[in-house]
Amino acid sequence: MPLVLTEFHIGVDDTDSRLGGCTTYTAAVLFQELVSEGFKPLDFPWLVRLNPNIPWKTRGNGALSLHFTVEEEQLEDVKKVAIATVERTTDLTQRATDPAMVFLKGRAPNPLREFSSRALHDVLSVNEARQTAESARSEVHLLKGSRGLVGALASVGADFDHDHTFEIIAYRTPENIGTKRRVNYDSVRQMDALFRGLTFNNIDPETGRVLICPHGPDPVLLGIRGKDPASVTGGLNHLEINEPIERVMIFRTNQGTDAHLNYHTRIQALRPHQSAVITGDVSDSPRIVRGGHVIFRIHDETGSVDCAAYHATGSVRDTSLQLSPGDSVAVSGGIRPQPLRELTLNVEKLEVTRLVDKVRLENPTCSNCGTRCESMGRDQGFRCRKCKARLPRTSRVEKLEPRKIRVGVYLPPPRAHRHLTKPASRYGIDHPNSPKTDDTIDQTLVSLVSIPIVS
Ligand SMILES: [Zn+2]
Repeated sequence: MPLVLTEFHIGVDDTDSRLGGCTTYTAAVLFQELVSEGFKPLDFPWLVRLNPNIPWKTRGNGALSLHFTVEEEQLEDVKKVAIATVERTTDLTQRATDPAMVFLKGRAPNPLREFSSRALHDVLSVNEARQTAESARSEVHLLKGSRGLVGALASVGADFDHDHTFEIIAYRTPENIGTKRRVNYDSVRQMDALFRGLTFNNIDPETGRVLICPHGPDPVLLGIRGKDPASVTGGLNHLEINEPIERVMIFRTNQGTDAHLNYHTRIQALRPHQSAVITGDVSDSPRIVRGGHVIFRIHDETGSVDCAAYHATGSVRDTSLQLSPGDSVAVSGGIRPQPLRELTLNVEKLEVTRLVDKVRLENPTCSNCGTRCESMGRDQGFRCRKCKARLPRTSRVEKLEPRKIRVGVYLPPPRAHRHLTKPASRYGIDHPNSPKTDDTIDQTLVSLVSIPIVS
């Protein structure tokens, strides 16, 4: 009987909770389990970050998917392994954990791809996810509630054809989880210098803070982000790590691509918790509110909205403060509902596209003696202090005030980035140099699976 091979995709979400656990860990274990049982992966596992402006997410709003070539008659075996692995790596007693799995045979159909694309910037309901899963003929497996379904489904239909990056994650052994991570920070700085342009967000340049290690009790020891598997692996090998590593996995991901900031819309169409890009003109002078945050209002032809540039956004906040009425901007960020008030756009990226001339009207100088004239009062003319000559109100001189900011894109410092924020070093890169050939995947996978995991 001839073998019938088929693509098989597994989506997983929400195996993590605030108290430990991590969906990437579940995916890493499952991936290595399936590979060691002889199943052939089509790609690295995908780590898909979804709309970061949804408040009821766990930490990073990331979902995972795995992609294999499977013989038809082995499909049930793969599903069994998948379900068992998710059950084993999830603490189901955590109230906030609602693991969901999605199984899809064959390529992701268009409605599913559209669902995934909207999950990057919109708020999608579990009901909509169920309908999409049904129309895509995918199988849903819930371990508890249904909250993880949106992410699990969205991760299966993700589109990495345009832009993507990679992350290598090293996991801790159980006895070390919850203790201080023993990574030599000097070696991180050296690695950052050596792999500049190949990796990103290792260090915050302003504060020197190490960004590759998370804080808290999850199993992730560290993660290095970069343009291709070789770069992130090279970066990891360069670090001095003084604790055992339980396992290592490389993920293809949409981190660092601004994938959530592709939804260009009008002010009238904004809805709470969306991520959106609004193009408009500044309506009034920016103001500083408590905490040092800057608020400025913009309008387009459909309405106007307040934009909030938080103190932590650094140059985004400083630039916002220098905006003038009439300046043209494209503002990207999350839409926050305010109790009893209208929506606010929290600025994650500010692009200044046009600066108006800022004109200041000055009192004229006297035509007889050259002395600066003084105003005789509101709506009155001017009088020379020295020779008492008079000049009409219309004699005021327009003086151009130099603008303190320039046309350009302004980003928060790396320490304030979301997972999806595209770092400055990646501007101009839309098609990273990482061809998805079976060769590179096979080689890297073999090395990953066979890495002797000792310190
Ligand atoms: Zn005079």
